[in-house]
Amino acid sequence: GKGIAVFTSGGDSQGMNAAVRAVVRMGIYLGCKVFFIKEGYQGMVDGGSNIVEANWSSVSSIIHKGGTVIGSARCKDFREREGRLKAAKNLLEKGITNLVVIGGDGSLTGANLFRQEWPSLLDELLNNGSITKEQREKYSHLHIAGLVGSIDNDFCGTDMTIGTDSALHRIIEAIDAIVSTAYSHQRTFIMEVMGRHCGYLAIVTALTSEADYVFCPEMPPPNDWPSKLCTKLEQERTAGQRLNIIIVAEGAIDREGQPITAEKVRQVVVDNLKQDTRITVLGHVQRGGSPSAFDRVLGCRMGAEAVMALMEATPETEACVVSLDGNQAVRLPLMECVEKTKAVAKAMADKQWDLAVKLRGRS
Ligand code: ATP
Repeated sequence: GKGIAVFTSGGDSQGMNAAVRAVVRMGIYLGCKVFFIKEGYQGMVDGGSNIVEANWSSVSSIIHKGGTVIGSARCKDFREREGRLKAAKNLLEKGITNLVVIGGDGSLTGANLFRQEWPSLLDELLNNGSITKEQREKYSHLHIAGLVGSIDNDFCGTDMTIGTDSALHRIIEAIDAIVSTAYSHQRTFIMEVMGRHCGYLAIVTALTSEADYVFCPEMPPPNDWPSKLCTKLEQERTAGQRLNIIIVAEGAIDREGQPITAEKVRQVVVDNLKQDTRITVLGHVQRGGSPSAFDRVLGCRMGAEAVMALMEATPETEACVVSLDGNQAVRLPLMECVEKTKAVAKAMADKQWDLAVKLRGRS
């Protein structure tokens, strides 16, 4: 059977374990040898006990766990050819020529680069005597299938990334708890949620918590936002509301590209309205806890589809990313999605907000 390895890389997210489990079981079901690579690219570069064969029961009782049980890391070595050469040698030792990478756009970019370099890495290993001619021929192609694990829903090409739904559950629970205390004391609460480049969590949170105002990275507010904000808050109080909720994405900015922090918003409210105003920064709570049913099912479906994609790959097949399109699991060219995701970041850096929102697309 074919050698497949699965690893998680970059920031963790809920539902990654469901995806790992699906890859292992679908792979075994189809007669493959499936390996875990622990600690992301670092484990691939270091080899040894970081690359271990998985069996059916090694993925039992993980679907309900948050984070990733096989570990994730950021890895400097893999950014250098030297590191990728070591990684290639370690994979060949186990007969692995198929990779399922679960991570963000950085991790997927690294995987694609690795795939493109693979023939030349093998040539170098052959020349320095690390592999035989037979191995060079047998393992001549590396196949890649990517899955997007990220709570931010910040990847172009998929409607939902694995982990976003669970993060929203966490955020909503926290806001509901805060609303009850805010109501009692007639307070204004400013909630900072994750999203350095993507306002998805902030926007959905605002919609589902009846927030009064939201700040997010792709849609900076008009320059007179302080007065607009205060007018809105006052209107709500005059209409009989006992509390105000403001959502700020951690990457929120104004039209000059300057950060709009929770503290800056608090200052505006306190200076102008003298409201009792508190900040809650949710932080890593959003990445914690058990995955929602949606993320478990998403991880399962994406993991199984990734293995199918690898099984059907020919030497000409480009690296793909398995995405959710409506309710359909689809395979898209990995690099096209990465390029589009990078184009959103560039549009934001160039202050082309309309373009950023348009490129962001359905997600
Ligand atoms: P997150 O969205 O959570 O930040 P990510 O996958 O985008 O996830 P990165 O830190 O960008 O996170 O990338 C994870 C790892 O992928 C890096 O530590 C590095 O090992 C590898 N990587 C990223 N970009 C490249 C690249 N251009 N070339 C080679 N390896 C890369």
